[in-house]
Parts: sequence; structure tokens; C-alpha cells
Amino acid sequence: MPQDSRPVAVVSGGSRGIGRAVVERFLTDGYDVGYCYRSRPADADAIERLAAEHGGRVFGASVDVTDPDAVRGFLEGTQERLGAIDAIVTSAGIVQDGPLVTMGQEAWTSVIDTNLTGTYNVCRAAVFALMKQGRGSIVTLSSVAGVCGSATQTNYAASKAGIIGFTRSLAKEVARFGIRANVVAPGLIATDMTDGMKAKAREAVLAQIPLGRIGTAAEVADTVAFLASDRASYITGQVIRIDGGIGN
Ligand code: NDP
Repeated sequence: MPQDSRPVAVVSGGSRGIGRAVVERFLTDGYDVGYCYRSRPADADAIERLAAEHGGRVFGASVDVTDPDAVRGFLEGTQERLGAIDAIVTSAGIVQDGPLVTMGQEAWTSVIDTNLTGTYNVCRAAVFALMKQGRGSIVTLSSVAGVCGSATQTNYAASKAGIIGFTRSLAKEVARFGIRANVVAPGLIATDMTDGMKAKAREAVLAQIPLGRIGTAAEVADTVAFLASDRASYITGQVIRIDGGIGN
């Protein structure tokens, strides 16, 4: 990272949940941050206030990660406003659960398009600039479901396993350009995504978590920020689980 200016991070799905916690963590750590969301704007005032507190700048935009042109425009806009990008975090993701026997084509396609192709779109739009500058760090969001599998989540688990293969391959491809790429694979984390879980299903998962509780978005953001930073300068191609021990 350049020493004479603030580092810049980009976070897809940065308006809520884990992505939002990552945006906050980056601002606290002294980054300027570009973030996108699909349709529900973040509490932009709260993010602006936090940025001002830390002397940072933010750029938030409504961008669907399944649209490669919109993603490219968002990354160009971030670079124009904030400068060269040091860190990319792909947190935009959705679930559309159900058993395979009744899963429709739309549930399959929308989850693969948002989670896996969305990750490709963001990384594809950014990678050449990172290669040219000879530095950068990418952190993608997978899931324990992508590592271990998860009943009623064949679409989601496939997308998240795909993200692991994608990121590990990318890590090998771009290491010689000074770029690192790692994956975080959270277990059950308290966000809007998991709020809707039925009480019975939640209790069943909780019973399997050795640490005996659901994780927080801030706990995931901590590891994401570490992997993105120079403190992780010799770590690439890794999958770090943040799951209270459930994936063991
Ligand atoms: P949330 O549902 O809380 O937030 C999702 C974020 O992604 C929102 O900002 C949303 O924007 C954005 N988003 C969704 N679709 C798109 C799209 N097509 N284009 C742009 N932005 C989009 O999710 P979480 O914070 O819980 O999850 C974040 C990531 O972590 C996901 O990839 C998820 O799979 C992964 N994960 C989460 C776990 C958990 O237990 N919560 C466990 C394991 C992995 P908008 O509000 O506008 O829709």
C-alpha cells in the first residue's frame, strides 16, 4: 500500500450485514471506501458520519453485480473519486433455499448469477488495474455451505464452492503481480440473510456450533480487514472459516 495516501477499498454488497461491517471496519482502519448494493440504500448518513470521524471518504452506488457494464462503471467511478484501489471485497450475495426436488430454474440461476458470476464481474473489472499497479488484495465471501455442503442449499453451496475454486485459481494467476486473493467462509452470522430462519432450524444449527452462539458481522469483518491488509502479506489462496467450529 502506498504510504503517502489513504488506501482505497471496494466492497460489493456493502450496505447491509457483513459487507456493511467491512465498510465500517475499513473506514476505522483509515481507508477510503467505495461500496455498492442492489436496491436498498444503506443508512448513508451513518456511513458518512463514520467516514468524517476518521477523515475518510465514501462512494456508495446502486449497482447490480450481475450487470458487468454497471460493475465496470462503478469501479471506474470509485477510482475517479477515491484513487487507485488497494483492496476488493465481494460480499454481495443472496440465498433462495429449497430442496433440489422442487428447485426451479430461476432459484438456481439467480443465486449462481449473483454469488458466483457477481464475484467474477467485480474481480474481472478490477484485476487489470491491480496488475498494472503491481499491488492489491482480494477477499471473496464464500460460506461453510460451500465447504461442507448444506441441505436445501444446492444452488447456494454450488455458488460458494465455485467462489473457492475461482479465488484459489486467481491467487495462483496474479501472485506474480503482487496481488493476493483469499476467501472467508462464515458459518451462521447474524444479518438480514439469517434473520428469517425458522426458530426450529436456528436451534438445530446452534446445537451444532461448538462455540454455542451465532457469529457477528463485525467478527467476519475483522478477518476480512486482516486479509486485505499488509499484515497478511504472505497469505494467499487460503480459505479462512469463521464459523464457531461448526465446519470442523
Ligand atoms: P445481507 O442479505 O445482509 O446483505 C447482502 C448485501 O448484498 C446487501 O448489501 C445487498 O444489497 C447486496 N446484494 C445482494 N444482491 C446484490 C446484487 N445483485 N448486486 C449488488 N448487491 C447485491 O447478507 P449477509 O451480509 O448476511 O451476507 C454477505 C455475504 O456473506 C454473502 O455473500 C453471503 O452469502 C455470505 N455469507 C453470509 C452468512 C450469514 O450467515 N449471514 C454465512 C456465510 C456466508 P440490497 O440490500 O440492495 O439487496
